[in-house]
Amino acid sequence: MKLSVIGTGYVGLVVGTCFAEGGNDVICVDVDERKIDMLKRGESPIYEPGLTEFLKKNIEEGRLTFTNDLEHAVRNSEAIFLALPTPQAEDGSADLQHVLDVAEKIGRFMNGYKVIVTKSTVPVGTGDKVKEIVGRMTKHEFDIVSNPEFLKEGAAVNDFMKPDRVVIGTRSPRARAIMEDLYAPFVRTGNPLIVMDERSSELTKYAANSFLATKVSFMNEIANLCERVGADIDMVRKGMGSDPRIGSQFLFAGIGYGGSCFPKDVSALLKTSRISGYPLRILDAVELVNRMQKTVIVEKLKTHMKGDLKGKVVTLWGLSFKPNTDDTREAPALTIIEALRKEGAVIHAHDPEAMPEMKRRVGDGVKYFDNNYEALKGADALIIVTEWNEFRRPDFDRMRALMRSAVIFDGRNIYDPARIRDKGFVYYGIGR
Ligand code: NAD
Repeated sequence: MKLSVIGTGYVGLVVGTCFAEGGNDVICVDVDERKIDMLKRGESPIYEPGLTEFLKKNIEEGRLTFTNDLEHAVRNSEAIFLALPTPQAEDGSADLQHVLDVAEKIGRFMNGYKVIVTKSTVPVGTGDKVKEIVGRMTKHEFDIVSNPEFLKEGAAVNDFMKPDRVVIGTRSPRARAIMEDLYAPFVRTGNPLIVMDERSSELTKYAANSFLATKVSFMNEIANLCERVGADIDMVRKGMGSDPRIGSQFLFAGIGYGGSCFPKDVSALLKTSRISGYPLRILDAVELVNRMQKTVIVEKLKTHMKGDLKGKVVTLWGLSFKPNTDDTREAPALTIIEALRKEGAVIHAHDPEAMPEMKRRVGDGVKYFDNNYEALKGADALIIVTEWNEFRRPDFDRMRALMRSAVIFDGRNIYDPARIRDKGFVYYGIGR
């Protein structure tokens, strides 16, 4: 099938590349010329495990091309996927300007029947808006489909190639047949392809992300309670998670959720619910808890340092919002860096992939190290911000020798407190 994907970011690039891997001819479009130039050379502008191999292979085999020319893409494809950003607007809603702008242009460039598929996370009713805009611009037939994306950064290629489920929102039999045909190779193992109306599909994505965010905030609340009553969140988690109705995944306490999705999606769903006259009280609490949780570790550090962080060297291991990605959008590291700067601390940092992104975002004021041990030289404290695998089993003796004061603030509970204390460290975790 001939496809195009508009927006080649974390979602669009994976979607486009994986559809090409599935045997389709895919044109990827972006307004960012630097990205397109890199991609034409087979270089990925983002870090995502397994992506570069697929990218190079499909470019070489002629199924995957990149361009800034939207008109060329629209005219040469039967299905057009919108993987455009829908960031948080000032009032908390999802900003739809990119999606609606591109919808208008697609309408203008159409030369026959097209399926226009919204992969971006968009509020309920956006499909109707896109339909109205495209319809105003063209006499050709078209269908609008909602097809939210559930991939996880850091495991995106695998998630797309073997999805837990595919959700398709359309009431058009013609569009449904095209979408089922397109996804057939990806759901061969029997995982469901769930077809529903557009609005339910749009809401499914927000409900899923908000539920996951709720799990995180719930566990963080229980963790904070654990600290006050002398319980251990890790034990509570294991005890809870073995109930299949609860499930063992996504129950880890930490320093709050971040990334480009949960914060903005919770906020946008709250906005939708308020506009609809049924404000979701539970999500207000989820947001509040998360905001507070991002500062928990700095509060612990301040208490340990008796309120004075001025001139203290604090090393951060991890900057990305989660492991296996270079994405730093809404990362807890940003809140921690801001708070440490305010307190006059000297910040050392290491991250396997996210240092260039963080440098671009926060500028000077953080000293970056290519090696995690180098970052520890003279440190008064270490904060584990992101649970990259390489931080899980470090050489604690070497660390202690490098640090001015052997204190670890484990924001992701990756270490065994007893073992760390045996090694001569002062240890602070979350909820234990
Ligand atoms: P992103 O910012 O990484 O990528 C968006 C891309 O669109 C950028 O490369 C940008 O240059 C390009 N773009 C902007 N305006 C354009 C235009 N007019 N024409 C062509 N290209 C344009 O965003 P993302 O993380 O890939 O997210 C895209 C959408 O997918 C969002 O709605 C997001 O909520 C949703 N989503 C994201 C994830 C995730 O893990 N990142 C997962 C599921 C869904």
